[in-house]
Amino acid sequence: MKTLDLFNFKDKKALIRVDFNVPLDANFKVTDTTRIEAAKPTIAKILGEGGAVVLMSHLGRPKGVESKYSLKHITETVSKIIGVNVKFSNNCVGDEAEQAVANLQKGEVLLLENLRFHPEEKTGNINFAKQLAKLGDIYVNDAFGTAHRAHASTAIIAQFFPEAKCFGYLLANEINSIKRVLEDSQKPVTAVLGGAKVSSKIGIIKNILDKVDHIIIGGGMTFTFIKAQGGKIGNSLCEDDKLDLALEILEEAKAKNVKIHLPIDTVIADNFSNDAKTDVVDVNNIPEGWMGLDAGPKTNIIFSFIIAQSKTILWNGPLGVFEMPNFAKGTIELGNAIAEATKEGAFSLVGGGDSVAAVKQFGFANKVSYVSTGGGAMLEMLEGKTLPGIAAIID
Ligand code: AMP
Repeated sequence: MKTLDLFNFKDKKALIRVDFNVPLDANFKVTDTTRIEAAKPTIAKILGEGGAVVLMSHLGRPKGVESKYSLKHITETVSKIIGVNVKFSNNCVGDEAEQAVANLQKGEVLLLENLRFHPEEKTGNINFAKQLAKLGDIYVNDAFGTAHRAHASTAIIAQFFPEAKCFGYLLANEINSIKRVLEDSQKPVTAVLGGAKVSSKIGIIKNILDKVDHIIIGGGMTFTFIKAQGGKIGNSLCEDDKLDLALEILEEAKAKNVKIHLPIDTVIADNFSNDAKTDVVDVNNIPEGWMGLDAGPKTNIIFSFIIAQSKTILWNGPLGVFEMPNFAKGTIELGNAIAEATKEGAFSLVGGGDSVAAVKQFGFANKVSYVSTGGGAMLEMLEGKTLPGIAAIID
């Protein structure tokens, strides 16, 4: 793994692609600093060795220059977290940026303005990448959240640093944690796939069938599988065009000796609301007009038992509509089981969108082995795809 440990940064300027695409409130204050904190170890190592740091990132989806998407809003927060007074350049390329870099002394940090103020960033324009490349001696990619994009700053730029490019610690940790689940894993390996739709998880299911021993399926996806096998699902979420696919997955899993576990009971509601009337029924027998919104109590016991036997656990997607307290129990019990298994020595990786929100909301983030910072990038890695931002460093 080409990490920044390969280099000594003394008197060097490191150009780091970070993912500082953080949420801001109406007063432009950062409301979640996770991504900034995640980049700190990389920045600290470079400054500690006597180097200087140039940070580049995108923020939001600006159409050209839009001041509300200026990274200037976050300089104070970044300064606080890193412990260094961060300088700012109003443009990420051109004279101002080049001058700011030239003036940068060891131990100093410069943040460049939003890369996406230039459309060339997203189109992966090679001349734009070349301009960016003037701003450092060593290129470090530490932005897992955009590693699945072939943008100028995430992939195209790497060719200008043939001998001086590497992964930051965050990106290296993300890659290693996925490897620990899908390649060098301790068995039995269990993947929990929840969330809303089969269609968004199908790529993952297909890729992991050769790599895991158990797949727990939960959340809204459940009902496509149940209906495909002849169950009555009432008004539950269902993708009718994926019924055959669900059966194919079950067949393929059987052939590969992977055990698929579906819920056996479910908490049903008479409408999609936290105040709805609820009941618990057999998952195959949901009355007309009702919908399954959470895993039932028997299911929670079985799923927790499987998790307790597992040495490696991947969790992607909630087991119910966890945003509503009355349908959060399945997700919370699963989180508890994964936390317990982790305490007993299992390796657990939580990744991809809503499951990350769920572990944070319910306080499991410090009780699992690794929480991924990249939604889409994580999903693509789990699908077995090669990410452009990673390939550009390895090549
Ligand atoms: P995903 O982004 O695919 O992981 O889906 C996450 C979403 O799935 C969350 O917003 C959950 O509320 C939703 N979800 C989970 N279980 C169900 C269910 N049984 N019915 C409808 N939506 C669900």
